[in-house]
Amino acid sequence: MFNSLSDRLTATFKNLRGKGRLSEADIDGTAREIRRALLDADVAVPVVREFIAKIKARALGAEVSEALNPGQQVVKIVNEELVGILGGDTRELRLAKNPPTVIMLAGLQGAGKTTLAGKLAAHLKGKGHTPILAACDLQRPNAVNQLQVGGERAGVPVFAPHPGISSEAETPTGDPVQVARDAVSEARSKLHDIVIIDTAGRLGVDQELMRQAADIKAAVGAHETLFVIDSMIGQDAVNTAQAFNEGVDFTGVVLTKLDGDARGGAALSVAQVTGKPVMYASTGEGLKDFEVFHPDRMARRILD
Ligand code: GDP
Repeated sequence: MFNSLSDRLTATFKNLRGKGRLSEADIDGTAREIRRALLDADVAVPVVREFIAKIKARALGAEVSEALNPGQQVVKIVNEELVGILGGDTRELRLAKNPPTVIMLAGLQGAGKTTLAGKLAAHLKGKGHTPILAACDLQRPNAVNQLQVGGERAGVPVFAPHPGISSEAETPTGDPVQVARDAVSEARSKLHDIVIIDTAGRLGVDQELMRQAADIKAAVGAHETLFVIDSMIGQDAVNTAQAFNEGVDFTGVVLTKLDGDARGGAALSVAQVTGKPVMYASTGEGLKDFEVFHPDRMARRILD
């Protein structure tokens, strides 16, 4: 019984050492294993198909080197392709030449945006920045409150339309675009070098909210727009990512709930269909359950 994909791939080739070149028949067996592993990791079907075709093309006719056996060689190719799709190296935040840098978060409701806002603020504060959070999710009754709690935990101020909203039932009113503009002015006057804007999401992709997010982005000239996606979303990752990519043309991806059972296939689906890099990962509900995303580690998680 072989547990990891790497082991299974190596095993499919165990009789091939020293054969010279990999043949189509050799690769077919391997392709089946890779397909199964990617589908198990919840990578979207069309993404898997494209990936397999690429691996086959690269592996076919590849010289079997002295140092690696054929299985190890295919594992190496799979690993390189995975890392490449996921963005190669870790992508750093692009900071504005003239502060504040404006970072907008977008995604479906429940994806983990508000939770992430606090974590990202804490992370940036830890790096010496002076962030401020802007509460522009005026759709979900408790979102402003929740952001305020996150801000308090992170020790970061929150700019909100109605300070002190306390009732869970109360939905804050106001124009989210104006709140975002005011938050950026506040940051400028109080010398906060980063503004993190939390925006509203719906359970499904919603044109009106997508327009609202695009309006906020345009009004404040966001330097980074991060698409926040639940790693458990499975096959819906492709459609959701495409809709947000068209709607707000995001610059980076944040994968949340990686502490659950999901193996992170959504990262591959989103990166492949949008070409945008995954930048951060959220791994729990606590402030510190947050990581800068490393494509090579995710590739290993998928392969292991
Ligand atoms: P939003 O609607 O996108 O703002 O989503 P929230 O930030 O309110 O998160 C939705 C739910 O997911 C909340 O119950 C969070 O505590 C939870 N959550 C957010 N991120 C994570 C994570 O990385 N891991 C886990 N296990 N739960 C998370």
